[in-house]
Amino acid sequence: MIIAIDGPAGAGKTTIGRALARYFRCKFINTGAMYRAVAWALQQGAQLEETELNVDEQGRLIVDGQVLHEDKLYRLELDEFASKIARRPEVRVKLIALQRELAKESNVVMEGRDIGTVVLPHADVKLYIDAPIRERARRRLHQRPRTSLEEILKELEDRDQRDQGFGRLSPAPDAVMLTTAGKTPEESIAQALQVVREALGRKTSMP
Ligand code: C5P
Repeated sequence: MIIAIDGPAGAGKTTIGRALARYFRCKFINTGAMYRAVAWALQQGAQLEETELNVDEQGRLIVDGQVLHEDKLYRLELDEFASKIARRPEVRVKLIALQRELAKESNVVMEGRDIGTVVLPHADVKLYIDAPIRERARRRLHQRPRTSLEEILKELEDRDQRDQGFGRLSPAPDAVMLTTAGKTPEESIAQALQVVREALGRKTSMP
């Protein structure tokens, strides 16, 4: 089973994706973390062609044989650098190939920007999750308390712009649109769970 989740930064994709993966006992794959890992490796002076990336059984990123911890990836400067290197076609080709491989190996919930449109267009269920930019910025401020709301708003606006193209941030025609506006994480998870169960139910009852 494949569940594809797309949407902009801060919309709640990871919170929902992790919960769905736990519920359906699937592997959770956060493709944004992969772009961040490549950005991190390039910052360390690595060459793209020589950088080996993988995801282990627990969903952790492995770069050149070593587990790469999340605290290295979720920093303001990598927010920007990852979205810049994500525009390089050779980076996308490499990561999309890995993402498709991972989806072949097991049942997955995969989240990103282009999963339902480009990476896994045959996914069983596609969700497109969104929320107003101010609300997304407030959530990010919570995760990065040392920055200001204005700074995060500006960063999100720039990133929303830069993250267009290559089939990203445009919902697949068969995606279910969900908003997390004004909802608690628990409410957003409950809503997504209901939508996915209904969609899977319709699929299995088809002749
Ligand atoms: O999801 P997250 O904000 O961690 O992603 C970091 C960056 O990786 C995004 O801003 C975007 O540029 C890029 N990305 C992408 N395609 C994906 C997932 C992320 O281009 N499927």
